[in-house]
Amino acid sequence: MENIFKAHKTLFLSGNTLSYEFRVSQLKKLKRLIIEHQEEILEALYKDLHKSRFEAYSTEVGYVLKSLTSTIKSLKKWMKPKKVKTPFYLTTTSSYLTYDALGTVLIIGPYNYPFQLIVEPLIGAIAAGNTIIIKPSEFAAHTEKMLIELINGHFDKDYLYVLEGDYTVTSKLLDLKFDHIFFTGSSRVGQIVYEKASKHLTPVTLELGGKSPTIVDETANLKIAAERILFGKFLNAGQTCIAPDYIYVHDTIHDEFITTLNQVINTRYSDMDSFGRIINDRHFNRLTALIDETKVTQEVVTDAPTKLISPTILKGVTWEDKVMQEEIFGPILPVLKYSNLKDLVSLLKTKDKPLALYLFSNNKKNQTYVFENLSFGGGAINDTIMHVSNPYLPFGGIGMSGIGAYHGFYSFKLFSHTKGYVKKATWLDLPIVYPPYTKAKEKLIRKIFK
Ligand code: NAD
Repeated sequence: MENIFKAHKTLFLSGNTLSYEFRVSQLKKLKRLIIEHQEEILEALYKDLHKSRFEAYSTEVGYVLKSLTSTIKSLKKWMKPKKVKTPFYLTTTSSYLTYDALGTVLIIGPYNYPFQLIVEPLIGAIAAGNTIIIKPSEFAAHTEKMLIELINGHFDKDYLYVLEGDYTVTSKLLDLKFDHIFFTGSSRVGQIVYEKASKHLTPVTLELGGKSPTIVDETANLKIAAERILFGKFLNAGQTCIAPDYIYVHDTIHDEFITTLNQVINTRYSDMDSFGRIINDRHFNRLTALIDETKVTQEVVTDAPTKLISPTILKGVTWEDKVMQEEIFGPILPVLKYSNLKDLVSLLKTKDKPLALYLFSNNKKNQTYVFENLSFGGGAINDTIMHVSNPYLPFGGIGMSGIGAYHGFYSFKLFSHTKGYVKKATWLDLPIVYPPYTKAKEKLIRKIFK
């Protein structure tokens, strides 16, 4: 590990990763490899999480291919130094921004989108000119193996390298003096990463999770709300960081909405063949223990050998229930009731700031009230999870749900240092800033700063 790390540092210092030509050639190579090996990637995702081809392509393989295409197209423009405004008192001066590569960076991934959540930040790190060490999740073992073959088998190991192993490997990696650490995973491990990074003052991006609320008010289109909430919740069997964790439904439409949710489940989720499975026994057991049989709205099918948990709605849930004590991260959707939106917003303000928040409402005042009064990573009105697919929006959390944001240009910026500098002419030299500092100079500076 230390040798790989040293070789990465040496390569970075050589400056060979910095040119536009080098960066774009590596991005194109990555794109070509993903296209060539897409069947193996889809296969690995199926073996790890029983992802259907549609899900695996749209949320992982196709998703990063799209991102590669637009990054390759935009990189030259992003890399250009930008001229910015200069205030009048800096006369004869021009001001610029450049984006400098950071150095050797570490990317640590989770198990739920084990391919996309490694490759998406990787695109930004390559685009920004860094050397990169990758540590995928050991729990998505097939994808981990496939990433090792794809990357270690085709890239210079001093430039891009995937390390395999459990958390002890990650822990040792975190002792090294990286120039940036990009971590996706739980808030619990995020705290460990942050603490370890602080030893070297290494900057971090923490893409974490938490309980993302969804509100359905009395003006919502109930059928559309049910469809879109259940899509966001049951994608990847609920193992999505921005999945709606729980729903608050206005009491006047509560019973009708529960009926609508059950109807959508019956029409869309009767076939469990293309439904995802829980990653491992530990999470399967954790999740089944969250299901209170007295609160389910329809029959729940669980199967330990295949780690299947069928779509589960719980009603009459309160904050005392076990399911409300932790991020669910599985196909269980608790429904709670509210009667006053202002009171609900006040309550949600007391909780940790979530990664996402969704509101289903056709009332503009309610939309503005919720989005102006609550702080969360990102979200949607009358939809779930789709904000993640817009590369023009920064994606990241706040507070316990994360630090920093990426996607599109934001990824490039995140893996760069934005360096600001000024360039001054020499044909004129106004002596105001030079001592001695007379009363007249003070008067002038006060005037300028007014
Ligand atoms: P996790 O935190 O358990 O593991 C993430 C990574 O950290 C893995 O690679 C693992 O090997 C490593 N790790 C685990 N324990 C460690 C330790 N003690 N020291 C150092 N490294 C350690 O997360 P997970 O279970 O794989 O993923 C689920 C979590 O990730 C959920 O909380 C989810 O919300 C979050 N998540 C967030 C995003 C996002 O974009 N914000 C995306 C996906 C998942």
